[in-house]
Amino acid sequence: MQLSNDQETDNLDIDIENSENLGSKPQVLSDKKLIKEEVKRRLISGIQTAALEYDSLFNEEKATLNKDYVLLSLLFRRMFFYKLNEKLSGLSCDHTLRLTKQILTQMQFKRGKINEIIDVFKKNGGQCDCEILYNVESQLIGK
Ligand SMILES: [Zn+2]
Repeated sequence: MQLSNDQETDNLDIDIENSENLGSKPQVLSDKKLIKEEVKRRLISGIQTAALEYDSLFNEEKATLNKDYVLLSLLFRRMFFYKLNEKLSGLSCDHTLRLTKQILTQMQFKRGKINEIIDVFKKNGGQCDCEILYNVESQLIGK
C-alpha cells in the first residue's frame, strides 16, 4: 500500500480514504452537523465529499427512463429535491414555484439555466413546489 501525500486530518476525509481499498462506498454520514454541511456544499458548489443516507433513495434504473435524466439526476445529487422538501415541510404549498426559484438561485444557476430547469419540471408535471416533489422527484426515487 502506498501512503498518500495528502494526509490532512480532516474528519470528513478519513473514512472515505480508508474505504477505498475495500472498494466499498464512502461512509454514510450520521452526524447532523456534518450532514448539514455536506448538503450545503453539494447545493452551492456541487462538490460531494461524503455519502448521505438520502443518496440511497436514488433509483438509477427508474430515473434513466426519463428523457431529462441527466439534468434531473444532477439536481438530485446537488440536493435540490432534498432542500425543497426541507423548505416545504411544515408549510402548505402556495402553488407557485417560489421555493424552487429560491433554491435554484442559491445553487448559483444563471437565469437562463433556471428557466430551462423550470421548463423541465413543468414538462414532468411539476407546476409548483409541491408538484415537483410529488411528480418529479418521485420519478427518480423509490421502486
Ligand atoms: Zn403546490
